[in-house]
Amino acid sequence: MSSDPTNWTKSSWKNYTALQQPNWPDQAAVEKAINDLSVLPPLVFAGEIRSLKQLLAKAVTGDAFLLQGGDCSENFSQVTAPNIRETLKVLLQMAVVLTYAGGKPVVKVGRIAGQFAKPRSSDTETIDGVELPSYRGDMVNRSEFTEDARIPNPKYMLRGYNMAASTLNLLRAFTRGGFGSLQRVQAWNQEFVTQSPMGRSYDRLAKQISQAIRFMETIGISSDTPQINQTQLFTSHEALLLQYEEALTRQDHITDNWYDCSAHMLWIGERTRQVDGAHVEFLRGVHNPLGVKLGPTYDLDEVKKLVEKLNPQNEAGRLTFITRFGMKKVEKVLPPLLREMKKEGFKIVWSCDPMHANTYTAKSGHKTRNFNDILSEITCFFETHWSEGTVPGGVHLEMTGNDVTECTGGAHNIVDEELASNYMTSCDPRLNAEQSLEVAFQIADMIRS
Ligand code: PEP
Ligand code: MN
Repeated sequence: MSSDPTNWTKSSWKNYTALQQPNWPDQAAVEKAINDLSVLPPLVFAGEIRSLKQLLAKAVTGDAFLLQGGDCSENFSQVTAPNIRETLKVLLQMAVVLTYAGGKPVVKVGRIAGQFAKPRSSDTETIDGVELPSYRGDMVNRSEFTEDARIPNPKYMLRGYNMAASTLNLLRAFTRGGFGSLQRVQAWNQEFVTQSPMGRSYDRLAKQISQAIRFMETIGISSDTPQINQTQLFTSHEALLLQYEEALTRQDHITDNWYDCSAHMLWIGERTRQVDGAHVEFLRGVHNPLGVKLGPTYDLDEVKKLVEKLNPQNEAGRLTFITRFGMKKVEKVLPPLLREMKKEGFKIVWSCDPMHANTYTAKSGHKTRNFNDILSEITCFFETHWSEGTVPGGVHLEMTGNDVTECTGGAHNIVDEELASNYMTSCDPRLNAEQSLEVAFQIADMIRS
């Protein structure tokens, strides 16, 4: 089949190889779940998706900055009001710091309200000689290491939809209802600065932000102004389970275009971005902004083919490349990619994922990442873009608003031995609230003009 857009349908991906799909034991049950999903209301609307695309178009030219972050893998049991509130809170705090320092709008996109399916490097997991199917996210199976828990259950896709819907409902309430007002977010930042051992070094910037807010108040800009009192958080997840994504794909009545209404932005993972694979086929036909993860073994010709297939019109805001090269390799593998894409004139949002190629196993056996490694990949990302004359357009982080101990380092210098004390993730290690804010302040230092 050719990649002629006219050949695309929301199920044309079925003619291609789809990697990382669950081994569902009961096909009839899958069909029932998918049929049920396809008549449920969309989670997001085409108009919102279009406005995200417009904002991302600005990140191509450096007139906006993308902040994307959240859990590696959301868990049904963790979909609670405090957890949603804390993740939102830290994202908003980071956004205020970055907006002030960069002098441009920050586009906030959560890995939230749908990040329930995970690709795995191996189909099975072996512990103490027992081999079971890998855990593939709460939308597929359960993480406990028992035979029963690891059987994929299609009903979990419906639960995933419901969990995403209730998460989004609360996010919409919080962002519209004054919870995220500029004054409140800045008060939280002040609290962080006084409480963090590194606080002093962030004090000056925090004070300047407070002064800017006081100035606005003094000249009579009312705190009821929507720009001050309201905010917007877009949603995103890896478009992995193609049956689920297809079921939520709907035709917009205004434009007649197809949108995957499971989230505003979808991304294709490092393991499923084959040019001739089912994931690329599916996503080329929906009009959402798309992310593509690129690891250090990318092939330049393949990357070019990906752009041509996913963004044939070279529309700004359509395509974000999320590079995840690792702090050791980024310096070597980022420049040739930037040069080639620049030479082709491709309009791309360049975002840095400093998490996925900096993972290692600590002596304690925990999968972890070190704060300094994360920071050094981010620093190198910015510096490389600046020296190549391209635009560092955003960051992509695995993070939580909770006080977890999953990544080492940071102001409280979490050491290997402490990882066990609050290691909560069921997949990859996340920055905790304090570490996330520190990342924001460090980036702020780098980009202050
Ligand atoms: C992820 O974002 O959790 C992930 C699996 O990333 P990647 O596809 O880059 O490995
Ligand atoms: Mn991850």
